[in-house]
Amino acid sequence: MFLKEKNGFNQKSKIKNQKLQRRGSKIYFYNYLTRKIERFKPIRKNWVFMYCCGPTVYDFVHLGNLRTYLFEDFLRRTLEYNGYKIKHIVNITDIDDKIIKKSKKQKIDFKKLTKKYSQYFFEDLKELNIEKATKYPRATQEIPSMIKLIQILLKKGYAYKTSDGIYFEISKFKDYGKLSQIKKANLISGKRISTDQYDKKTIFDFALWKFKKAGEPFFKAPFGDGRPGWHIECSAMSTKYLGIPFDIHCGGIDLLFPHHENEIAQSEAAFGKKFVNFFIEGEHLLVEGQKMAKSLGNIYTLKDLKEKNFLPLSFRYLCLQTHWQTKLDFSFKKLEESQKSLFNLWQKLLDLLLEKPQKKSSKFENQKFIKYQKKFLEIINFNLNTKKAIELLYQILEDKNLSSKTKLKLSIDFDKVFGLSFGKILKEGKKNFPSKKILSLVKKRENLRKKGNFKEADKIREKIQKNGYQIEDTKKGTKIKIDLKKILKI
Ligand code: AMP
Ligand code: ZN
Repeated sequence: MFLKEKNGFNQKSKIKNQKLQRRGSKIYFYNYLTRKIERFKPIRKNWVFMYCCGPTVYDFVHLGNLRTYLFEDFLRRTLEYNGYKIKHIVNITDIDDKIIKKSKKQKIDFKKLTKKYSQYFFEDLKELNIEKATKYPRATQEIPSMIKLIQILLKKGYAYKTSDGIYFEISKFKDYGKLSQIKKANLISGKRISTDQYDKKTIFDFALWKFKKAGEPFFKAPFGDGRPGWHIECSAMSTKYLGIPFDIHCGGIDLLFPHHENEIAQSEAAFGKKFVNFFIEGEHLLVEGQKMAKSLGNIYTLKDLKEKNFLPLSFRYLCLQTHWQTKLDFSFKKLEESQKSLFNLWQKLLDLLLEKPQKKSSKFENQKFIKYQKKFLEIINFNLNTKKAIELLYQILEDKNLSSKTKLKLSIDFDKVFGLSFGKILKEGKKNFPSKKILSLVKKRENLRKKGNFKEADKIREKIQKNGYQIEDTKKGTKIKIDLKKILKI
Protein backbone atom coordinates (compact mmCIF):
# COMPACT_ATOMS: atom_id res chain seq x y z
CA MET A 1 0.00 0.00 0.00
CA PHE A 2 2.72 2.42 0.94
CA LEU A 3 4.37 2.04 -2.43
CA LYS A 4 1.10 2.70 -4.15
CA GLU A 5 0.26 5.78 -2.12
CA LYS A 6 3.63 7.45 -1.72
CA ASN A 7 5.14 6.58 -5.04
CA GLY A 8 2.15 6.17 -7.29
CA PHE A 9 3.18 2.58 -7.75
CA ASN A 10 0.37 1.06 -9.72
CA GLN A 11 1.73 -0.99 -12.53
CA LYS A 12 -0.69 -3.91 -12.78
CA SER A 13 -2.58 -2.78 -15.86
CA LYS A 14 0.54 -1.38 -17.51
CA ILE A 15 2.38 -4.66 -17.01
CA LYS A 16 -0.46 -6.55 -18.67
CA ASN A 17 -0.11 -4.43 -21.78
CA GLN A 18 3.66 -4.67 -21.73
CA LYS A 19 3.44 -8.46 -21.52
CA LEU A 20 1.38 -8.56 -24.67
CA GLN A 21 3.87 -6.31 -26.41
CA ARG A 22 6.74 -8.40 -25.17
CA ARG A 23 5.51 -11.51 -26.88
CA GLY A 24 7.51 -11.85 -30.04
CA SER A 25 10.68 -10.31 -28.61
CA LYS A 26 13.58 -12.33 -29.93
CA ILE A 27 14.97 -14.94 -27.52
CA TYR A 28 18.21 -16.83 -28.01
CA PHE A 29 19.56 -19.83 -26.13
CA TYR A 30 22.56 -22.05 -26.53
CA ASN A 31 21.16 -25.33 -27.78
CA TYR A 32 23.23 -28.42 -27.02
CA LEU A 33 21.60 -30.24 -29.93
CA THR A 34 23.23 -27.92 -32.46
CA ARG A 35 26.02 -26.52 -30.22
CA LYS A 36 25.00 -23.03 -31.28
CA ILE A 37 23.20 -20.03 -29.87
CA GLU A 38 19.89 -20.19 -31.69
CA ARG A 39 16.71 -18.15 -31.93
CA PHE A 40 14.12 -19.79 -29.70
CA LYS A 41 10.61 -20.07 -31.09
CA PRO A 42 8.05 -22.12 -29.18
CA ILE A 43 5.99 -24.72 -31.01
CA ARG A 44 2.68 -23.32 -29.73
CA LYS A 45 1.82 -19.65 -30.01
CA ASN A 46 1.69 -18.51 -26.40
CA TRP A 47 2.99 -21.53 -24.56
CA VAL A 48 6.38 -23.04 -23.80
CA PHE A 49 6.46 -26.72 -22.86
CA MET A 50 9.49 -27.58 -20.76
CA TYR A 51 10.74 -30.72 -19.02
CA CYS A 52 13.43 -30.78 -16.33
CA CYS A 53 14.99 -33.88 -14.83
CA GLY A 54 14.21 -33.91 -11.14
CA PRO A 55 15.77 -35.51 -8.08
CA THR A 56 16.17 -39.10 -6.99
CA VAL A 57 14.64 -38.78 -3.56
CA TYR A 58 16.80 -40.91 -1.26
CA ASP A 59 18.71 -38.08 0.45
CA PHE A 60 18.84 -34.29 0.74
CA VAL A 61 19.51 -32.50 -2.52
CA HIS A 62 22.87 -30.70 -2.50
CA LEU A 63 23.93 -27.26 -3.71
CA GLY A 64 25.00 -28.71 -7.08
CA ASN A 65 21.50 -30.04 -7.71
CA LEU A 66 20.07 -26.75 -6.49
CA ARG A 67 22.24 -24.76 -8.87
CA THR A 68 20.63 -26.68 -11.73
CA TYR A 69 17.10 -26.16 -10.37
CA LEU A 70 17.87 -22.45 -9.95
CA PHE A 71 19.14 -22.11 -13.51
CA GLU A 72 15.96 -23.80 -14.72
CA ASP A 73 13.96 -21.33 -12.65
CA PHE A 74 15.80 -18.36 -14.23
CA LEU A 75 15.01 -19.83 -17.63
CA ARG A 76 11.36 -20.36 -16.82
CA ARG A 77 10.94 -16.90 -15.32
CA THR A 78 12.61 -15.35 -18.37
CA LEU A 79 10.10 -17.04 -20.62
CA GLU A 80 7.28 -15.88 -18.38
CA TYR A 81 8.69 -12.36 -18.42
CA ASN A 82 8.44 -12.55 -22.19
CA GLY A 83 4.74 -13.20 -21.80
CA TYR A 84 4.66 -16.95 -22.34
CA LYS A 85 2.67 -19.39 -20.29
CA ILE A 86 4.72 -22.37 -19.20
CA LYS A 87 3.85 -26.01 -18.91
CA HIS A 88 6.69 -27.21 -16.72
CA ILE A 89 7.15 -30.85 -15.76
CA VAL A 90 9.72 -32.09 -13.23
CA ASN A 91 9.91 -35.81 -12.50
CA ILE A 92 10.53 -37.33 -9.11
CA THR A 93 12.51 -40.56 -9.27
CA ASP A 94 11.06 -42.52 -6.37
CA ILE A 95 12.27 -45.98 -7.34
CA ASP A 96 15.87 -46.94 -8.18
CA ASP A 97 18.88 -48.88 -6.91
CA LYS A 98 20.02 -46.20 -4.46
CA ILE A 99 16.56 -45.89 -2.95
CA ILE A 100 16.24 -49.65 -2.53
CA LYS A 101 19.72 -49.88 -1.00
CA LYS A 102 19.07 -47.13 1.53
CA SER A 103 15.62 -48.36 2.51
CA LYS A 104 17.05 -51.86 3.07
CA LYS A 105 19.89 -50.43 5.16
CA GLN A 106 17.56 -48.32 7.26
CA LYS A 107 14.93 -51.07 7.36
CA ILE A 108 12.15 -48.74 6.29
CA ASP A 109 9.66 -48.96 3.48
CA PHE A 110 11.06 -47.31 0.35
CA LYS A 111 7.85 -45.25 0.00
CA LYS A 112 8.35 -43.74 3.43
CA LEU A 113 11.93 -42.85 2.55
CA THR A 114 11.05 -41.19 -0.75
CA LYS A 115 8.14 -39.29 0.79
CA LYS A 116 10.43 -37.83 3.44
CA TYR A 117 13.09 -36.65 1.00
CA SER A 118 10.65 -35.32 -1.56
CA GLN A 119 9.19 -33.13 1.18
CA TYR A 120 12.67 -31.78 1.96
CA PHE A 121 13.18 -31.15 -1.75
CA PHE A 122 9.99 -29.07 -1.96
CA GLU A 123 11.00 -27.10 1.13
CA ASP A 124 14.36 -26.23 -0.47
CA LEU A 125 12.66 -25.05 -3.63
CA LYS A 126 10.38 -22.81 -1.61
CA GLU A 127 13.21 -21.28 0.36
CA LEU A 128 15.03 -20.48 -2.86
CA ASN A 129 11.96 -18.86 -4.45
CA ILE A 130 11.93 -21.50 -7.19
CA GLU A 131 8.54 -21.45 -8.89
CA LYS A 132 6.46 -24.57 -8.64
CA ALA A 133 6.35 -26.77 -11.72
CA THR A 134 2.99 -27.48 -13.29
CA LYS A 135 3.35 -31.09 -12.20
CA TYR A 136 5.84 -33.33 -10.42
CA PRO A 137 5.00 -36.82 -11.68
CA ARG A 138 6.44 -39.65 -9.60
CA ALA A 139 7.95 -42.66 -11.34
CA THR A 140 5.98 -45.18 -9.27
CA GLN A 141 2.71 -43.53 -10.35
CA GLU A 142 3.57 -43.54 -14.04
CA ILE A 143 4.43 -47.19 -14.66
CA PRO A 144 1.66 -47.84 -17.27
CA SER A 145 3.01 -45.20 -19.66
CA MET A 146 6.53 -46.63 -19.30
CA ILE A 147 5.26 -50.14 -20.02
CA LYS A 148 3.45 -48.85 -23.12
CA LEU A 149 6.61 -47.22 -24.40
CA ILE A 150 8.68 -50.36 -23.84
CA GLN A 151 6.06 -52.41 -25.68
CA ILE A 152 6.32 -50.10 -28.69
CA LEU A 153 10.12 -50.37 -28.63
CA LEU A 154 9.94 -54.17 -28.44
CA LYS A 155 7.44 -54.28 -31.28
CA LYS A 156 9.52 -51.98 -33.47
CA GLY A 157 12.64 -54.06 -32.84
CA TYR A 158 14.61 -51.43 -30.90
CA ALA A 159 14.51 -53.43 -27.67
CA TYR A 160 15.43 -56.97 -26.71
CA LYS A 161 14.98 -59.21 -23.73
CA THR A 162 17.78 -60.77 -21.66
CA SER A 163 17.78 -62.85 -18.51
CA ASP A 164 17.71 -59.78 -16.27
CA GLY A 165 15.69 -57.22 -18.18
CA ILE A 166 14.68 -55.45 -21.38
CA TYR A 167 17.40 -53.42 -23.13
CA PHE A 168 17.50 -50.75 -25.79
CA GLU A 169 19.80 -51.64 -28.67
CA ILE A 170 21.67 -48.47 -29.54
CA SER A 171 23.00 -49.82 -32.85
CA LYS A 172 19.40 -49.92 -34.14
CA PHE A 173 18.86 -46.19 -33.64
CA LYS A 174 20.42 -44.33 -36.52
CA ASP A 175 20.85 -40.98 -34.76
CA TYR A 176 22.39 -42.32 -31.56
CA GLY A 177 25.05 -39.85 -30.40
CA LYS A 178 23.53 -36.75 -31.98
CA LEU A 179 23.28 -34.83 -28.70
CA SER A 180 26.54 -35.84 -27.07
CA GLN A 181 28.32 -35.89 -30.46
CA ILE A 182 29.77 -39.25 -29.52
CA LYS A 183 30.36 -41.51 -32.49
CA LYS A 184 28.07 -44.50 -32.27
CA ALA A 185 30.70 -46.70 -33.88
CA ASN A 186 33.02 -46.09 -30.93
CA LEU A 187 30.34 -47.17 -28.52
CA ILE A 188 29.40 -50.34 -30.34
CA SER A 189 32.64 -52.19 -29.99
CA GLY A 190 30.96 -55.24 -31.45
CA LYS A 191 31.76 -57.18 -28.32
CA ARG A 192 29.03 -59.14 -26.72
CA ILE A 193 28.92 -58.48 -23.00
CA SER A 194 28.20 -61.49 -20.95
CA THR A 195 28.91 -61.23 -17.28
CA ASP A 196 27.15 -62.17 -14.09
CA GLN A 197 25.45 -58.83 -14.18
CA TYR A 198 24.15 -58.54 -17.68
CA ASP A 199 23.70 -60.23 -20.92
CA LYS A 200 23.47 -57.32 -23.28
CA LYS A 201 24.67 -57.00 -26.83
CA THR A 202 26.98 -54.01 -26.34
CA ILE A 203 28.04 -52.25 -23.21
CA PHE A 204 26.14 -49.04 -24.01
CA ASP A 205 22.81 -50.78 -24.55
CA PHE A 206 20.80 -49.65 -21.58
CA ALA A 207 18.09 -51.11 -19.41
CA LEU A 208 14.51 -50.11 -20.12
CA TRP A 209 13.20 -52.54 -17.54
CA LYS A 210 14.89 -54.60 -14.82
CA PHE A 211 13.29 -57.91 -13.90
CA LYS A 212 12.34 -58.40 -10.29
CA LYS A 213 14.81 -59.62 -7.74
CA ALA A 214 13.96 -61.31 -4.43
CA GLY A 215 13.17 -58.86 -1.68
CA GLU A 216 12.94 -55.84 -3.99
CA PRO A 217 9.87 -53.85 -4.95
CA PHE A 218 8.41 -54.63 -8.37
CA PHE A 219 5.56 -53.74 -10.72
CA LYS A 220 3.48 -56.06 -12.89
CA ALA A 221 4.28 -55.96 -16.60
CA PRO A 222 3.26 -58.11 -19.60
CA PHE A 223 6.91 -58.73 -20.54
CA GLY A 224 7.90 -59.74 -16.98
CA ASP A 225 7.44 -58.15 -13.56
CA GLY A 226 10.12 -55.72 -12.45
CA ARG A 227 10.90 -52.02 -12.34
CA PRO A 228 11.76 -49.34 -14.87
CA GLY A 229 15.20 -48.15 -15.85
CA TRP A 230 15.91 -44.50 -15.15
CA HIS A 231 15.97 -43.22 -18.74
CA ILE A 232 12.57 -44.60 -19.73
CA GLU A 233 10.99 -42.71 -16.88
CA CYS A 234 11.82 -39.33 -18.42
CA SER A 235 10.81 -40.30 -21.98
CA ALA A 236 7.47 -41.64 -20.77
CA MET A 237 6.60 -38.73 -18.50
CA SER A 238 7.76 -35.94 -20.77
CA THR A 239 5.89 -37.21 -23.82
CA LYS A 240 2.81 -38.09 -21.75
CA TYR A 241 2.48 -34.57 -20.33
CA LEU A 242 4.04 -32.46 -23.08
CA GLY A 243 3.47 -34.46 -26.26
CA ILE A 244 6.16 -34.85 -28.90
CA PRO A 245 8.00 -32.77 -29.93
CA PHE A 246 8.14 -30.26 -27.09
CA ASP A 247 10.16 -27.08 -26.66
CA ILE A 248 12.84 -27.36 -23.99
CA HIS A 249 14.52 -30.14 -22.04
CA CYS A 250 16.82 -29.19 -19.17
CA GLY A 251 19.13 -30.77 -16.65
CA GLY A 252 22.68 -30.50 -15.42
CA ILE A 253 25.42 -30.98 -18.01
CA ASP A 254 26.27 -34.45 -16.62
CA LEU A 255 22.89 -35.67 -17.89
CA LEU A 256 23.80 -34.91 -21.50
CA PHE A 257 25.33 -38.36 -21.83
CA PRO A 258 24.04 -40.96 -21.45
CA HIS A 259 20.73 -39.88 -19.90
CA HIS A 260 19.47 -37.33 -22.43
CA GLU A 261 21.04 -39.17 -25.36
CA ASN A 262 19.10 -42.26 -24.27
CA GLU A 263 15.89 -40.29 -23.82
CA ILE A 264 16.21 -39.07 -27.40
CA ALA A 265 16.85 -42.61 -28.64
CA GLN A 266 13.87 -44.12 -26.82
CA SER A 267 11.42 -41.36 -27.70
CA GLU A 268 12.39 -40.83 -31.32
CA ALA A 269 12.59 -44.56 -31.98
CA ALA A 270 9.15 -45.14 -30.46
CA PHE A 271 7.29 -42.17 -31.96
CA GLY A 272 9.25 -41.63 -35.17
CA LYS A 273 9.40 -37.88 -34.51
CA LYS A 274 11.86 -35.33 -33.22
CA PHE A 275 11.76 -35.43 -29.39
CA VAL A 276 12.79 -31.93 -28.29
CA ASN A 277 13.78 -28.68 -30.01
CA PHE A 278 16.17 -27.27 -27.38
CA PHE A 279 18.39 -29.13 -24.95
CA ILE A 280 19.62 -26.56 -22.43
CA GLU A 281 22.00 -28.01 -19.85
CA GLY A 282 23.41 -26.07 -16.91
CA GLU A 283 27.10 -26.13 -15.93
CA HIS A 284 28.24 -27.69 -12.70
CA LEU A 285 28.81 -26.43 -9.23
CA LEU A 286 32.26 -27.45 -8.05
CA VAL A 287 34.06 -27.60 -4.74
CA GLU A 288 37.80 -27.03 -4.91
CA GLY A 289 37.75 -27.80 -8.62
CA GLN A 290 35.74 -31.01 -8.37
CA LYS A 291 32.08 -31.56 -9.19
CA MET A 292 29.92 -31.48 -6.07
CA ALA A 293 28.60 -35.02 -5.85
CA LYS A 294 27.35 -37.37 -3.19
CA SER A 295 29.78 -40.03 -4.38
CA LEU A 296 32.76 -37.71 -3.79
CA GLY A 297 31.59 -36.79 -0.31
CA ASN A 298 32.04 -33.06 -0.94
CA ILE A 299 28.46 -31.96 -0.65
CA TYR A 300 26.74 -29.14 1.21
CA THR A 301 23.00 -28.85 1.57
CA LEU A 302 20.82 -25.81 2.13
CA LYS A 303 20.52 -26.95 5.73
CA ASP A 304 24.31 -26.61 6.10
CA LEU A 305 24.13 -23.03 4.82
CA LYS A 306 21.36 -22.11 7.22
CA GLU A 307 23.30 -23.58 10.12
CA LYS A 308 26.13 -21.22 9.20
CA ASN A 309 23.69 -18.29 9.26
CA PHE A 310 23.39 -17.83 5.53
CA LEU A 311 20.08 -16.94 3.97
CA PRO A 312 19.13 -19.38 1.18
CA LEU A 313 18.61 -16.41 -1.14
CA SER A 314 22.33 -15.60 -0.87
CA PHE A 315 22.91 -18.82 -2.76
CA ARG A 316 20.30 -17.80 -5.34
CA TYR A 317 22.14 -14.50 -5.74
CA LEU A 318 25.48 -16.28 -6.17
CA CYS A 319 23.97 -18.40 -8.94
CA LEU A 320 22.42 -15.35 -10.62
CA GLN A 321 25.85 -13.76 -10.70
CA THR A 322 27.39 -16.73 -12.50
CA HIS A 323 26.43 -17.40 -16.09
CA TRP A 324 24.70 -20.78 -16.37
CA GLN A 325 27.34 -22.05 -18.81
CA THR A 326 30.20 -21.21 -16.47
CA LYS A 327 31.42 -23.60 -13.79
CA LEU A 328 30.81 -22.23 -10.33
CA ASP A 329 33.52 -23.12 -7.84
CA PHE A 330 31.64 -22.87 -4.57
CA SER A 331 33.24 -21.59 -1.37
CA PHE A 332 31.86 -20.07 1.80
CA LYS A 333 33.93 -16.98 1.11
CA LYS A 334 32.09 -16.48 -2.17
CA LEU A 335 28.78 -17.08 -0.46
CA GLU A 336 29.68 -14.54 2.20
CA GLU A 337 30.41 -11.96 -0.50
CA SER A 338 27.11 -12.77 -2.17
CA GLN A 339 25.20 -12.37 1.03
CA LYS A 340 26.88 -9.02 1.60
CA SER A 341 26.00 -7.84 -1.90
CA LEU A 342 22.43 -9.02 -1.55
CA PHE A 343 22.05 -7.20 1.77
CA ASN A 344 23.48 -4.06 0.14
CA LEU A 345 21.02 -4.36 -2.69
CA TRP A 346 18.07 -4.79 -0.34
CA GLN A 347 19.29 -1.84 1.72
CA LYS A 348 19.51 0.31 -1.41
CA LEU A 349 15.86 -0.49 -2.16
CA LEU A 350 14.84 0.39 1.39
CA ASP A 351 16.75 3.66 1.09
CA LEU A 352 14.82 4.47 -2.08
CA LEU A 353 11.58 4.18 -0.13
CA LEU A 354 12.71 7.01 2.09
CA GLU A 355 14.00 9.30 -0.63
CA LYS A 356 12.03 12.51 -0.97
CA PRO A 357 9.82 12.36 -4.06
CA GLN A 358 11.59 14.16 -6.90
CA LYS A 359 9.76 16.31 -9.39
CA LYS A 360 10.76 14.89 -12.75
CA SER A 361 9.03 15.06 -16.08
CA SER A 362 6.81 12.02 -16.32
CA LYS A 363 7.43 11.79 -20.08
CA PHE A 364 11.17 11.61 -19.50
CA GLU A 365 10.73 9.05 -16.71
CA ASN A 366 8.48 6.91 -18.88
CA GLN A 367 10.97 6.97 -21.73
CA LYS A 368 13.76 5.90 -19.40
CA PHE A 369 11.61 3.15 -17.88
CA ILE A 370 10.92 1.71 -21.32
CA LYS A 371 14.55 2.09 -22.39
CA TYR A 372 15.85 0.21 -19.36
CA GLN A 373 13.18 -2.46 -19.59
CA LYS A 374 14.09 -3.02 -23.23
CA LYS A 375 17.76 -3.30 -22.30
CA PHE A 376 16.93 -5.82 -19.57
CA LEU A 377 14.92 -7.92 -21.98
CA GLU A 378 17.73 -7.82 -24.52
CA ILE A 379 20.21 -9.01 -21.88
CA ILE A 380 18.21 -11.89 -20.44
CA ASN A 381 16.88 -12.90 -23.84
CA PHE A 382 20.39 -13.34 -25.14
CA ASN A 383 21.27 -16.71 -23.66
CA LEU A 384 19.97 -15.88 -20.21
CA ASN A 385 22.67 -13.52 -19.05
CA THR A 386 21.52 -13.07 -15.46
CA LYS A 387 24.96 -11.79 -14.42
CA LYS A 388 24.73 -8.86 -16.83
CA ALA A 389 21.10 -8.26 -15.86
CA ILE A 390 22.13 -7.79 -12.22
CA GLU A 391 24.82 -5.34 -13.36
CA LEU A 392 22.16 -3.39 -15.23
CA LEU A 393 20.08 -3.14 -12.07
CA TYR A 394 23.06 -1.64 -10.20
CA GLN A 395 23.55 0.82 -13.05
CA ILE A 396 19.91 1.87 -12.76
CA LEU A 397 20.13 2.30 -9.00
CA GLU A 398 23.13 4.60 -9.51
CA ASP A 399 21.45 6.66 -12.25
CA LYS A 400 21.32 10.20 -10.90
CA ASN A 401 18.77 11.28 -13.48
CA LEU A 402 16.15 8.75 -12.50
CA SER A 403 13.58 9.18 -9.73
CA SER A 404 13.36 6.74 -6.83
CA LYS A 405 9.85 5.87 -7.98
CA THR A 406 11.07 4.65 -11.39
CA LYS A 407 14.03 2.86 -9.85
CA LEU A 408 11.69 0.93 -7.58
CA LYS A 409 9.33 0.15 -10.43
CA LEU A 410 12.18 -1.26 -12.53
CA SER A 411 13.59 -3.26 -9.60
CA ILE A 412 10.23 -4.88 -8.90
CA ASP A 413 9.79 -5.59 -12.59
CA PHE A 414 13.23 -7.23 -12.98
CA ASP A 415 12.67 -9.24 -9.82
CA LYS A 416 10.11 -11.29 -11.72
CA VAL A 417 13.21 -12.95 -13.21
CA PHE A 418 15.66 -12.55 -10.30
CA GLY A 419 13.26 -13.85 -7.63
CA LEU A 420 15.13 -12.07 -4.84
CA SER A 421 12.06 -11.11 -2.79
CA PHE A 422 12.30 -7.37 -3.52
CA GLY A 423 8.54 -7.11 -3.09
CA LYS A 424 8.64 -8.72 0.36
CA ILE A 425 11.52 -6.55 1.52
CA LEU A 426 9.76 -3.39 0.37
CA LYS A 427 6.50 -4.50 1.95
CA GLU A 428 8.29 -4.96 5.27
CA GLY A 429 10.09 -1.66 4.73
CA LYS A 430 6.78 0.04 4.23
CA LYS A 431 5.54 -1.43 7.52
CA ASN A 432 8.64 -0.02 9.18
CA PHE A 433 8.34 3.41 7.64
CA PRO A 434 9.50 5.95 10.27
CA SER A 435 6.68 7.71 12.08
CA LYS A 436 6.23 11.48 12.07
CA LYS A 437 7.69 11.49 15.57
CA ILE A 438 10.91 9.83 14.41
CA LEU A 439 11.15 12.11 11.38
CA SER A 440 10.78 15.17 13.60
CA LEU A 441 13.59 13.80 15.82
CA VAL A 442 15.80 13.60 12.74
CA LYS A 443 15.00 17.28 11.97
CA LYS A 444 15.65 18.28 15.55
CA ARG A 445 19.01 16.51 15.55
CA GLU A 446 19.99 18.15 12.29
CA ASN A 447 19.26 21.59 13.77
CA LEU A 448 21.23 20.78 16.90
CA ARG A 449 24.20 19.76 14.77
CA LYS A 450 23.98 22.96 12.78
CA LYS A 451 24.20 24.86 16.04
CA GLY A 452 27.17 22.75 17.10
CA ASN A 453 25.33 21.04 19.94
CA PHE A 454 26.75 17.58 19.18
CA LYS A 455 26.18 16.19 22.66
CA GLU A 456 22.41 16.58 22.45
CA ALA A 457 22.45 15.49 18.80
CA ASP A 458 24.18 12.22 19.75
CA LYS A 459 21.56 11.52 22.39
CA ILE A 460 18.84 11.87 19.79
CA ARG A 461 20.77 9.61 17.42
CA GLU A 462 20.78 6.88 20.06
CA LYS A 463 17.05 7.26 20.51
CA ILE A 464 16.46 6.94 16.78
CA GLN A 465 18.70 3.88 16.57
CA LYS A 466 16.86 2.21 19.42
CA ASN A 467 13.73 2.47 17.31
CA GLY A 468 15.39 0.46 14.52
CA TYR A 469 16.72 3.17 12.20
CA GLN A 470 20.18 4.19 11.12
CA ILE A 471 21.31 7.77 10.59
CA GLU A 472 23.72 8.87 7.89
CA ASP A 473 25.06 12.44 7.72
CA THR A 474 25.73 13.37 4.12
CA LYS A 475 26.67 16.60 2.33
CA LYS A 476 23.02 16.95 1.35
CA GLY A 477 21.86 16.61 4.94
CA THR A 478 20.93 13.80 7.29
CA LYS A 479 19.44 10.62 5.87
CA ILE A 480 17.45 8.13 7.88
CA LYS A 481 17.68 4.49 6.90
CA ILE A 482 15.37 1.58 7.67
CA ASP A 483 17.55 -1.04 9.29
CA LEU A 484 17.63 -4.14 7.06
CA LYS A 485 18.57 -6.35 10.02
CA LYS A 486 15.32 -5.38 11.70
CA ILE A 487 13.39 -6.34 8.57
CA LEU A 488 15.19 -9.66 8.25
CA LYS A 489 14.90 -10.24 11.98
CA ILE A 490 18.58 -11.21 12.21
P1 AMP B 1 20.75 -36.32 -9.58
O1 AMP B 1 19.94 -36.35 -8.33
O2 AMP B 1 22.18 -36.68 -9.43
O3 AMP B 1 20.06 -37.05 -10.72
O4 AMP B 1 20.79 -34.79 -10.04
C1 AMP B 1 19.67 -33.96 -10.15
C2 AMP B 1 20.01 -32.77 -11.02
O5 AMP B 1 21.13 -32.07 -10.45
C3 AMP B 1 20.44 -33.13 -12.43
O6 AMP B 1 19.95 -32.18 -13.33
C4 AMP B 1 21.95 -33.09 -12.37
O7 AMP B 1 22.53 -32.83 -13.62
C5 AMP B 1 22.16 -31.93 -11.42
N1 AMP B 1 23.47 -31.96 -10.73
C6 AMP B 1 24.05 -32.97 -10.04
N2 AMP B 1 25.27 -32.59 -9.55
C7 AMP B 1 25.45 -31.30 -9.93
C8 AMP B 1 26.50 -30.32 -9.74
N3 AMP B 1 27.58 -30.59 -9.02
N4 AMP B 1 26.33 -29.11 -10.28
C9 AMP B 1 25.22 -28.79 -11.00
N5 AMP B 1 24.21 -29.66 -11.21
C10 AMP B 1 24.31 -30.89 -10.69
ZN1 ZN C 1 15.61 -37.26 -16.81
